[in-house]
Amino acid sequence: MRFSAFKVVAEALTGHKGWGPLWRNPEPKPEYDYIIIGGGGHGLSTAYYLSNTFRQARIAVLERGWLGQGNIGRNTTIIRSNYLLPGNEPFYELSMKLWEGLEQAFNFNAMVSQRGIVNLIHSDGQRDAYRRRGNAMLLAGADAELLSREQVRGMCPFLNFDNARFPIKGGLMQRRAGTARHDGVAWGYARGADQKGVDLIQNCEVTGFRIENGRVLGVETSRGYIGARKVGVAVAGMSGKVMGMAGMRLPIESHVLQAFVSEGLKPVIPGVITFGAGHFYVSQSDKGGLVFGGDIDGYNSYAQRGNLPVIEDVAESGMALMPMIGRARLLRTWGGIMDMSMDGTPIIDRTPIEGLYLNAGWCYGGFKATPGLGLLLRASAGDRHAA
Ligand SMILES: Cc1cc2nc3c(=O)[nH]c(=O)nc-3n(C[C@H](O)[C@H](O)[C@H](O)COP(=O)(O)OP(=O)(O)OC[C@H]3O[C@@H](n4cnc5c(N)ncnc54)[C@H](O)[C@@H]3O)c2cc1C
Repeated sequence: MRFSAFKVVAEALTGHKGWGPLWRNPEPKPEYDYIIIGGGGHGLSTAYYLSNTFRQARIAVLERGWLGQGNIGRNTTIIRSNYLLPGNEPFYELSMKLWEGLEQAFNFNAMVSQRGIVNLIHSDGQRDAYRRRGNAMLLAGADAELLSREQVRGMCPFLNFDNARFPIKGGLMQRRAGTARHDGVAWGYARGADQKGVDLIQNCEVTGFRIENGRVLGVETSRGYIGARKVGVAVAGMSGKVMGMAGMRLPIESHVLQAFVSEGLKPVIPGVITFGAGHFYVSQSDKGGLVFGGDIDGYNSYAQRGNLPVIEDVAESGMALMPMIGRARLLRTWGGIMDMSMDGTPIIDRTPIEGLYLNAGWCYGGFKATPGLGLLLRASAGDRHAA
């Protein structure tokens, strides 16, 4: 089944009887060449590129719940490549380029919308830092513009420009950044992988590894033992627990990060705005809800729900930046479990256990990395010739 304007019209005229499920629901086989643990964005994109780009077969994704129930379906949907460091910027720019062609590549509407992001500047020192970051972005082939205070005001007149503590002095803009529908991304990758024969196995929790002579042979699951030549772990907030089953202790902590959505409003926010003096960022969904977030909760947790002090903190920052948000009613909040690495740097690598690969430590920034990471996991994690 291919999606096209013609197909939509044809189905509309024939009672929508021709739409099929987006993926099969297969039983696990006794053995695969590749097992990916975690049916989030990273696991699904890895399976997609392994099967579509690297033409590998005999692949399974094992998901303990349903596809997309984790952070991929809980994030605040921002995609961007506005990083400073040489190890980061080219990677996120590669990912950005993949976002730009993603919907055509996997023939699915993921609502990729390059509506731009502005990082607000509140001090002269911050302007210097953002100017440096913008130059690093340009050197890596990304786009960046330094905006004056009046340019920011022209775009977002509702911001509190003369806040006594945090006056807005300008912004760093990346016009190609924006948002994408997070669960649509998971479904698009799942469908694309399934079409190449990848078995997407839901309700299949990995409960242990079978490791002999320093080599992984397969995984124990809630649906029995499954053998594998190579196993990739992409379980985000559960990374510490899952790698603990393989005897590895990770330099990663799990924390809750919350997201917030207001009632639907008329279009007011043109792109993504980040507050440079507090933990707050905001965009507006196509349905009209203000989508915003802030800092992680301050304690370690595996619970996919947040707490009231952080809600208060985010609301305070929102009021400092754009007081009109106080008139909007909050409709929904939820939480996801972040895999916080100590320096904010992710890990995409092989492990000391032969055949076992790890993708973790994305903190609150792994959604934008989904295409790039999926393409590179195989290459970075050992099969370098494949890139
Ligand atoms: C509120 C919030 C806002 C965010 N905003 C942004 C943003 O705007 N931009 C951005 O770039 N990033 C953002 N992020 C971060 C981003 O969502 C994550 O870094 C990224 O989604 C993590 O990768 P993933 O999609 O594979 O994770 P997940 O979707 O969490 O996938 C991991 C999967 O592993 C499964 N799993 C766990 N243990 C097992 C097991 N034992 N057996 C089998 N399966 C298992 C889980 O059920 C889960 O489905 C945000 C995150 C949150 C929570």
